[in-house]
Amino acid sequence: EFDTVAACIRHHARNQPTHPALQDEHAQLSYAQLDALMDRVAATLQRAGVRQGDVVAICALNSVRMGALFLGALRAGVVVAPMAPSSSPEALASMLGDAQPRLVFVDAAAPALVQAAAQLPCVALEPGAPGQGWDDWLAPAGSQPQPVAVQPGDAFNIIYSSGTTGVPKGIVQSHGMRWAHVRRGAQYGYGPDGRTLLSTPLYSNTTLVIFFPTLAYGGTVVLMRKFGALAYLQLAAQLRITHTMLVPVQYQRLMALAQFGDFDLSALTQKFCTSAPFHAALKAEVLARMPGRLTELYGMTEGGGTCILDAHLHPDKLHTVGHPAPGHDIRLIDEDGREVAPGETGEVVGHSPSMMNGYHGQSDKTREVEWFDAAGKRFIRTGDVGRFDADGFLTLLDRRKDMIISGGFNIYPSDLEAQLREHPAVADVAVVGVPSEQWGETPVAFVVLRAGGATSADELRDWFNQRVGKTQRLADLRFTPELPRSAIGKVLKRELREAFAAQN
Ligand code: ATP
Ligand code: MG
Repeated sequence: EFDTVAACIRHHARNQPTHPALQDEHAQLSYAQLDALMDRVAATLQRAGVRQGDVVAICALNSVRMGALFLGALRAGVVVAPMAPSSSPEALASMLGDAQPRLVFVDAAAPALVQAAAQLPCVALEPGAPGQGWDDWLAPAGSQPQPVAVQPGDAFNIIYSSGTTGVPKGIVQSHGMRWAHVRRGAQYGYGPDGRTLLSTPLYSNTTLVIFFPTLAYGGTVVLMRKFGALAYLQLAAQLRITHTMLVPVQYQRLMALAQFGDFDLSALTQKFCTSAPFHAALKAEVLARMPGRLTELYGMTEGGGTCILDAHLHPDKLHTVGHPAPGHDIRLIDEDGREVAPGETGEVVGHSPSMMNGYHGQSDKTREVEWFDAAGKRFIRTGDVGRFDADGFLTLLDRRKDMIISGGFNIYPSDLEAQLREHPAVADVAVVGVPSEQWGETPVAFVVLRAGGATSADELRDWFNQRVGKTQRLADLRFTPELPRSAIGKVLKRELREAFAAQN
């Protein structure tokens, strides 16, 4: 059956009106307060002539107000396009041009947007942001919207893919797709006693896959505006957090914190991780040092290709991303679009009941990522290369775009990174391919040293090159204080390749 998150919140507002629904560092809303604020937002949008199916953009960091705005728009059947305030002015202009929002909601973190959005009416979510003030904009307390009925196929939000490999693409997610995430959440123990701590941004699907289910099951969402390892642990201990989603680099920061052991995290029952490679050794450390279950999700905003690894159940499979989620059909294809033989390596393509129909307004880009099997079943290409083991667990090798072809051999940077990580002085590493006259492409490593890690770049490169075959040898190895990452912690290999080109 199908229902909406907004309707679930109405139900909880009646059943448990004073129970906290949303909170951040400054504010808290009970279910009754959240429900009433959603009504006001929906009514205001309707009075401003924003109709069901129209788009509004939100360019802001996490806050109770931003969350309530998102949910209120949904109640009016309005499609939300959340955008990262850290986006470049060009990326923002491209996203706004694509989404064609009727209104843009901004907070003080979104200065670049002002120029890009000069033609669009803005509403300021907080003092210091441009546009009409929130209190001025919002209809009076008690305002009621016209009821709106949504169908599973109606657009819910447009998420812009993180743009890790190029220009951001608008992915339209439907109410049905969101509801599928809520239903799948039933197995993760959400409920009124649950408190979910989210420090990744609400403009990313990484956060939304946990945000909506927590509220649909009547739990409390605690939002952090910005992640800090110490602040995270303080909140998690103080609020007896039960559920959380962290990206791998955040787990890495928690594990590296000297005071980690000082915090009581015993209320934690369910941790999630997604969005970037989560190395086996780090998974093992998290399993050993943090209480509760650890579930890794592999997937893309487009919705094809979801795999799940319940790491606490499979200590021998930590090098994999698990097996296909129920209802998901995942295959591997070669360069010519043919399925590979069992055990072989290929590009991951996925079919799920809740995958996107296509990129917003970009049918050519949509066709590039579609693949059909012999029976005409539609799959989405992930751009990731992987291999299934005999037990049906998927190991990811790399993104196709990051694979290095050197002297005719395929080199997977992740293999080289895993070996470099075994050196005691290495805290973090990224390997990229750079042009080479002799080999076509050749691998180069960027290494972040551990505090006190004593080795030179030449020493480390020699150590590595003696351990690997000729084709895998590094042409160069450089130290860097940190790796460039996107707002949700993905290593930006494109930037490393550009930095290398600029230095040479
Ligand atoms: P763009 O498509 O614009 O380059 P993106 O692919 O990074 O951006 P997302 O949809 O946020 O945008 O991310 C999906 C990708 O993230 C996957 O294709 C995969 O490469 C990576 N990813 C997601 N989860 C995992 C995981 N558990 N382990 C390894 N990689 C992951
Ligand atoms: Mg992608």
